Amino acid sequence: MRKKDFELLIFDLDGTLYPEKEQITRAFINAAATMVSQVEKISQKQGREKIEEEKQKLGEKIAGNATYSLTLLTHWKVDIEEYAKAVSNNVKDLSKIIRKDQYAIQTMHKIAATYPVFLYTTNNRFLGARILDHIQMAEFFPKDRRFTISSIKDLDIERSDIKDFIKPGKEGFKYITDREGVNFDQVLMVGDSQTADIRPAEKLGMQTYHVSSRPDFYNLPSWLGLEG
Ligand SMILES: [Mg+2]
Repeated sequence: MRKKDFELLIFDLDGTLYPEKEQITRAFINAAATMVSQVEKISQKQGREKIEEEKQKLGEKIAGNATYSLTLLTHWKVDIEEYAKAVSNNVKDLSKIIRKDQYAIQTMHKIAATYPVFLYTTNNRFLGARILDHIQMAEFFPKDRRFTISSIKDLDIERSDIKDFIKPGKEGFKYITDREGVNFDQVLMVGDSQTADIRPAEKLGMQTYHVSSRPDFYNLPSWLGLEG
């Protein structure tokens, strides 16, 4: 079979390269609630309620599911790196949360041997790097091929524009394709979230591959025409 003709494959991390884990999601929720409680000088519980409330409102505004990170960083003037560290500190031992998956590593190996790949995640540089190391996929996504929410700080993006650089905002997708010098129609976005990964990529004219189960991820090489 002839391989599909893409110039770049962009991968989401959480829920795409490894199965979604409740403990990871909770690390984000708890860190966000802590930061809100500190800024607002309220209890952790009230911080949690407050961010849920704002998340709901923001979701209605963007007609999708706003993440805790997006809500926190657009509504409160908190430091992105401080938040990133708090999230990472909330995850103690990854080996207790994420199982090593040789088949996923082989899958990624086949893909990265043929296509340039890039990571675009709402995760941050600290926890993102720990997860990539743990699932043994760091080699496929060297640090200069990762766009994380920490990248927003590196790029010195204005606070009012931050939301556009966090999925489902489109600026992160544009930044990656500009950097790589490729057109949207030459790109495949691989992700688990309809709201954050698939829909914005489709709106830009990218092709998409939705990962809703592990077999979906394992089947990507054959879908690309790399096997069979
Ligand atoms: Mg995801």
